[in-house]
Amino acid sequence: MELKLYDTLTREKRVFVPLDPSNVRMYVCGPTVYDFAHIGNARPVIVFDVLFRLLRHRYGAEHVTYVRNITDVDDKINARAAEEYPDLPLNEAIRKVTEKTDQQFHEDVAALGCLPPTVEPRATEHIAEMKVLIERLIKSGHAYVAEDNVLFSVPSMPDYGQLSKRPLDEMIAGARVEVAAYKRDPRDFVLWKLSKPGEPAWPSPAGIAAPGRPGWHIECSAMSWKYLGEIFDIHGGGIDLVFPHHEDEIAQSRCAFHTPVMANFWMHNGFLQVEGEKMAKSLGNFVTIHELLNDWPGEVLRLAMLQTHYRQPINWTMSGLIEAQKTLDHWYVLTAEADSGYLCADALDALADDLNTPKMLAALHELRGEAAKGVKPAAACLKASAQLVGLLEKTASNWIAFRPKSIVVDEAKVATLIEARAAARKQKNFAESDRIRDELSKMGIVLKDTKDGTTWEIAR
Ligand code: AMP
Ligand code: ZN
Repeated sequence: MELKLYDTLTREKRVFVPLDPSNVRMYVCGPTVYDFAHIGNARPVIVFDVLFRLLRHRYGAEHVTYVRNITDVDDKINARAAEEYPDLPLNEAIRKVTEKTDQQFHEDVAALGCLPPTVEPRATEHIAEMKVLIERLIKSGHAYVAEDNVLFSVPSMPDYGQLSKRPLDEMIAGARVEVAAYKRDPRDFVLWKLSKPGEPAWPSPAGIAAPGRPGWHIECSAMSWKYLGEIFDIHGGGIDLVFPHHEDEIAQSRCAFHTPVMANFWMHNGFLQVEGEKMAKSLGNFVTIHELLNDWPGEVLRLAMLQTHYRQPINWTMSGLIEAQKTLDHWYVLTAEADSGYLCADALDALADDLNTPKMLAALHELRGEAAKGVKPAAACLKASAQLVGLLEKTASNWIAFRPKSIVVDEAKVATLIEARAAARKQKNFAESDRIRDELSKMGIVLKDTKDGTTWEIAR
């Protein structure tokens, strides 16, 4: 199997050749733990889980190291902790918020069928490594101390900006929001900053007497270095992380280690929108994984996510979920008796072509057609191929027994019942028309009678 991946840095799809096939190394930026993860956050988790599974299939499970960090030091965490536990000392409140959120995140992504990464390092447990990097950068002239903060000097790196390829004036404009007088260049970014009284604080590097805390980007340079080395194979995350987060990770790591690259492939998932709109608390369309799991099996959410290629924006819709539920219901029934068979070559080829999951799913739908005609190897092949991406891992009886509140609508049946009800009403048989309305209501369908006829919708 020849695996091809799109690399954001070189803007091309290339054949993936690991630096060391006996230890294929991938780093993905994980969550900042201050609130329930939303369905957009689930996207990189699912996408890179599919890649993790594919790499394990290709190189052997014991030959792949997947690191996904947990950001547990951040201004948003501090703010949330102070708001939620105003009577507790801030450090204790922060611990409560991060522990609770961290546990919820793990429950959520396990329900989505994601394997645990090999290592899940927490930022606050790697302050020592961050300080080593910061000291190195200062020594080599890539960073400087200013008013007890440490800043990375962007002009010290002539090829800064290769990943995002932003024009200089845009970068300056973007950085202006937080331009402090002590910055030598507006693009310079924080490696270490002074902690205000009450904020989390650690002894500072570089002989700074006052205690401080790390900037955001340095944690990923430190943790990827510790677990994957100076250069590794794949670095991933959402497209919003390209600038400044990943650009700045590259600057820190390459200047600290004098390396030509930080990772050989940079992969970014597109953004998720809800019913065609940006997801935002202010728009009232903000959905957490936790809420969705009340209504749908995690596997439905996973399949709905994989219907779109990971680099495209995804439109998250109710109709997509209903469709995914129907598909899985059908697949589970068809494969109930199947042993696990060979992988479908078309499905594997699609997946190996920069994780083309929509094409892969189309191949599985073809198999479904064959399996429905009673072709036994097709059912076995469907099962094995779906399992490669973390689907159809339950038994059919477990699948059927586990039914959250979601509704699968048999549209043909609804139409037939609506017609029967109309006929009953015409004959003034209101007992029968009421009975049909009740039957539909039990299926979760609400009727609306208008002057143009009867329409229906799903009760929520
Ligand atoms: P955060 O906790 O905000 O740092 O985000 C964790 C991960 O989720 C990052 O890789 C983000 O790029 C990704 N992410 C956040 N919002 C979305 C979204 N709406 N669609 C896709 N990915 C997202
Ligand atoms: Zn990161």
